[in-house]
Amino acid sequence: MENLQNNFSPLGTLSPSVTLSLAARAKELKKQGLDVYSMSVGEPDFDTPQAIKNAAIKALNEGKVRYIASSGLPELKDEIVKKMAENGVKTTANNVIVTTGAKLALFETITALCGAGDEVIVLAPYWLSYPEMIKASGAKTVVVNTKAENNFAPTKEDLEKAITPNTKLIIVNSPSNPTGAVYSKETLQMIADLAVKHNIMVLSDEIYEKLIYDENIKHISIASLNDKIADLTITINGFSKAYAMTGWRLGYLVAPLWLAKRISALQSHATSNATTFVQYAAVDALQGKADAEVENMVKTFARRRELLCKLLKDIPQIDFIEPQGAFYVMCNIAKTGKTAKDFAQELLEQKLLTVIPCESFGAPEYVRLSYACSEEQIIEAIKRLKQFCQDL
Ligand code: PLP
Repeated sequence: MENLQNNFSPLGTLSPSVTLSLAARAKELKKQGLDVYSMSVGEPDFDTPQAIKNAAIKALNEGKVRYIASSGLPELKDEIVKKMAENGVKTTANNVIVTTGAKLALFETITALCGAGDEVIVLAPYWLSYPEMIKASGAKTVVVNTKAENNFAPTKEDLEKAITPNTKLIIVNSPSNPTGAVYSKETLQMIADLAVKHNIMVLSDEIYEKLIYDENIKHISIASLNDKIADLTITINGFSKAYAMTGWRLGYLVAPLWLAKRISALQSHATSNATTFVQYAAVDALQGKADAEVENMVKTFARRRELLCKLLKDIPQIDFIEPQGAFYVMCNIAKTGKTAKDFAQELLEQKLLTVIPCESFGAPEYVRLSYACSEEQIIEAIKRLKQFCQDL
């Protein structure tokens, strides 16, 4: 028995999400009738647009309830090809795999591509699931730190230093969770040039693409920069954040053909196709049937971002840079002398406010605030945060 419990494959050694214990405590406090506020949410607080719901209902009523091709519904793949063309990326339906959430697209790509002996470069602060997925593949995570004063973009020098003959993949996430940074064309070009020079694949997680709040800043798909980088890039995207569809679990990847074939084989044995009627609804989403709602959601997020940043400027113990995308603000709490975990725990106990401590995002001096909540909630939450910092 002991033998069985001590010998795991890499897949059996993953760490559970650290944020779960905080969430459990918050739940407990709420159950006691206490007025707990949350700035830790990782999903839009909007309902899925009605047009998308209607399309799913129609598909169900028409009996779209059977298995389909494991790699995805042909009509949806065609829409994804068109969508990629809008991003300046030429591709074909054979390069596309529709997945059960972008998370599975990332997991399948990393595990199909990487293994023991490989190194994967991750830019810190990073989304906490990347290192766990890399661990699952048997490969090693190599962290390249970035700085707030560089808008959390890596420098060429730091990136080049991290590259070894074993480097297989670099993960890029713009707009970023947790920093909200949107990489400039120059930064993406620098990463692309290094990837081409050293023959390294790039995994570009573009799930927050639609959530950018500055008219002068445009999302750029790294695969659009030139044909050479396109041949080395796997682009990941999905419906969770752009269309408020987190619970629907739908994402996709676009990969070079040789890799798409391998991932497709993996998916055929793991999950088969992503939910059939959901894929029909996603066709309508990509055809723009919910664009007005999406636009409204983005405008609302933009107003909240402005409000939150204005209020945070009034808290001298916290440093932050204004994020350009996603729905998070990274707050540097180094001046308080506390670890992020202690800061978050004490904030919850004393002021009934949850934020995410960023140790597992590779950023131990930061807590992440999400503005996927109403303006009234932001005002009350930051009042509590300010009071907590003043009392320290
Ligand atoms: N990538 C990033 C950076 C995310 O923050 C998330 C979800 O929080 C995902 C991917 C996964 O999204 P999905 O809901 O499509 O699995």
